[in-house]
Formats: sequence, C-alpha cells, structure tokens
Amino acid sequence: MTSTVEAQTRLEELKKQLNYYNYRYYVLDDPNVPDAEYDRLFQQLKDIEAQHPELIAPDSPSQRVGEAPLSAFSQVSHELPMLSLDNAFNDEDLLNFNRRVQDRLKTPEDIEFACEPKLDGIAVSLLYIDGQLVRGATRGDGTTGEDITQNVRTIDSIPLRLMGQGYPATLEVRGEIYMPKRGFERLNEHARAAGEKTFVNPRNAAAGSLRQLDARITAKRPLQMCAYSVGRVSGGELPDRHTAVLEKLHEWGFLINPEMATVKNIDGCLDYYRRLAEKRTTLAYDIDGIVFKVNDRLLQERLGFVSRAPRWAIAYKFPAQEEMTQLLSVEFQV
Ligand code: NAD
Repeated sequence: MTSTVEAQTRLEELKKQLNYYNYRYYVLDDPNVPDAEYDRLFQQLKDIEAQHPELIAPDSPSQRVGEAPLSAFSQVSHELPMLSLDNAFNDEDLLNFNRRVQDRLKTPEDIEFACEPKLDGIAVSLLYIDGQLVRGATRGDGTTGEDITQNVRTIDSIPLRLMGQGYPATLEVRGEIYMPKRGFERLNEHARAAGEKTFVNPRNAAAGSLRQLDARITAKRPLQMCAYSVGRVSGGELPDRHTAVLEKLHEWGFLINPEMATVKNIDGCLDYYRRLAEKRTTLAYDIDGIVFKVNDRLLQERLGFVSRAPRWAIAYKFPAQEEMTQLLSVEFQV
C-alpha cells in the first residue's frame, strides 16, 4: 500500500493525463493513445482510489461518464442518465462480477445473462413519441448530451416511425451508432485519394461523421445503428427480460445484433466470450469486447447503479493488440 502523499501525487498525475485523453477522444474525436493504454491508466487510478477512498474527488474520471457536450450543438438533458460500463479484463474479473451480483441479490442460484457484442461506436438516445422519432442525442457526460436529431434522421437503420403495434407512447431507445469495416475502408480510400486526413479507426470515423453540424455530410457516411436497451418508457409495458425487450425493438423496426444470446450462468458467459473472440475478425464491424447483462429486468432494478455504471452489467474487453499496432503505425507515418 502506497503512502497517502504518494497516492495523492500519482492520482493528480493520472487525473490530468486521463482528462486530457478524454478530451482528445470525446471532444475532438482524435485520440492520441490506444484504448489499451487508456484502460491501463484508468485501472491504476481505480486501484489507488480503492486503497485510498478518502482521495476520491468528484472530478475524478472514475466518477464521471464521457465529457461535456460540444457547445456547437443544442443540449439535451437525459432524464435517465446514460451510463458507462464497468470493465473486466480477464476471467477472474468476470467471476468476481458474478459473485458481486449473487451477493447483492443474496442468492447462490445461477443468474441468467444476456450476451451482446460490444460494438465500438457512439452511444445514442432516440426518443419516440407516439411512434414518431422526435429527438436524437449523444450520451455527452451522461446527464447532458448533444442534440443530433437531424443527423440521426439520415441513418437508414433508424426508423423515423416505429413499425407494428403495441409500442409505449413514450419510448426512448438506446443503442450504438457505428461504421461497418467495409464502409470505413472506403471512406478512408476516398479521403486518401482527395489528399484529406484519414480516420484512425471505425469508432473515430463514426464519431466524426455523426457530430457534423451539416447533416448532409452525415448522410453520405456509411453509418448504422444497433439497439441495445431502452431509457425512458411510459404509456405502455415492456417484457420482463432484457432480450425479450430487444426482440420487441426488432419488431418495431430496429436492427439488433444477430450474435446476441442468452446463457444460463456465468460459465455460459465464458464460453460465449471465447466463441465470439474467435469469430471477431470475421464480423463486418469492430467490437472491442462482450457485454454481459443480468437478463431479468426486475433484478436489474434491484441491483441499481454505482457512480458511472450499472451493477447488473459488465464489458469483458478483448485484448487490444491490433488496435495498438494500428494507432502506433498511424502516428509513425505522420
Ligand atoms: P465503454 O466504451 O467501455 O462502455 C460503455 C459504452 O459501451 C456504452 O456507452 C455504449 O456506447 C457501448 N456499448 C456497445 N455495445 C453495447 C451493448 N451491447 N450494451 C451496452 N453498451 C454498449 O465506456 P465509455 O465510457 O464509453 O468509454 C470508455 C472507453 O473508451 C475506455 O475504456 C477506452 O477504451 C475508451 N477511451 C479511450 C480513450 C483514448 O484516448 N484512447 C479516451 C477515453 C476513452
């Protein structure tokens, strides 16, 4: 255990560094370090804070989600905050997550989990009133996002009007906007041919394409949206299981991930993780891990949230070797 003074000094350094990386990543859409490096420093910060809880400050990156929205866009308040996810980096982290869930629920029983590829894009909130898309927003800092309604309206996989019947009068759909690998490669080929700056990776290209003040530019970019949860819901009922909610969203016109699965317990999560890790490079889009969610929504409610993430979900990240090589080689070229 480090002394409090040493810990405080290191914490200050880490905060400064991580806040700068956050700014580059979330505000400028121009990251300057690989995600794995960011995750390593973030973990260091969390470890020190776990040893010295008295040093946790409200402005610590561990207490916040994303960054404040760009003032170029109008702001949107999220009635239900849009949170981040806790991370697991190895099997032990995942088993500990399961243990925490069982302890909180005071049950030794197996927990059913929903398994979803973690798409590497931008989180979006879409608000439907009486089936009509009325607002699209970024996550921003979790409480305040950017109004990107005009931009999301240009994305083909986002229904402007919900299909079918039985949807709640107010329905906020949340999901990820991403750029499939083929589209990303083509976009960069065009940029190279025109002597313009290329994007570092599909996530970065999706973020840059979405946060355009001129929606006509967004319209030309190959963006897709995949739904993964709901936010505000009123004037109607949704099923009790998370995966059944996603099936409903699919009926109402949303793309959901075809790899999504339900498993009986945490061992099923480990199997799923290995299966998807093998399949990863063959997928048409980038994923940076797997998200496991307690499937029963009543249990989700009982588990609730900590500062920046739900207690009922975890993102098991893939090792980020390839991305590091990619980013470093890009940096060396310039
Ligand atoms: P995160 O990306 O680790 O997890 C939360 C996000 O996952 C959600 O907001 C959502 O957008 C996304 N997601 C994808 N599929 C999902 C699904 N099926 N269900 C639920 N959510 C899903 O957390 P974050 O707070 O968005 O970003 C933190 C991460 O971003 C870091 O771990 C790091 O990898 C990266 N980052 C990198 C830098 C850098 O400089 N390289 C800087 C900041 C953040």
